[in-house]
Amino acid sequence: MRCERCDQGDRRPVQRAKLAERDGRVAVVLEVPMQECPACGERWLDWEVARRLDVMLNAMLARDVEVATRHYHETDLPAA
Ligand SMILES: [Zn+2]
Repeated sequence: MRCERCDQGDRRPVQRAKLAERDGRVAVVLEVPMQECPACGERWLDWEVARRLDVMLNAMLARDVEVATRHYHETDLPAA
């Protein structure tokens, strides 16, 4: 699918890390599936992916851990 932002590249599926920060704590979710434009770097997340990612990051930031990392495809969703 053509990138509607730059019209120079075709969106392609990639896996990237997403990071959130709150109160001095950092949460990183690895291998989040999304689409990316190789020309301008714009990224798109499906709504379902964004929602799951939000739940994961919030649960990770709620724990008393300075830096938390998880893989997106881990099957157990944290209690949110
Ligand atoms: Zn683009």
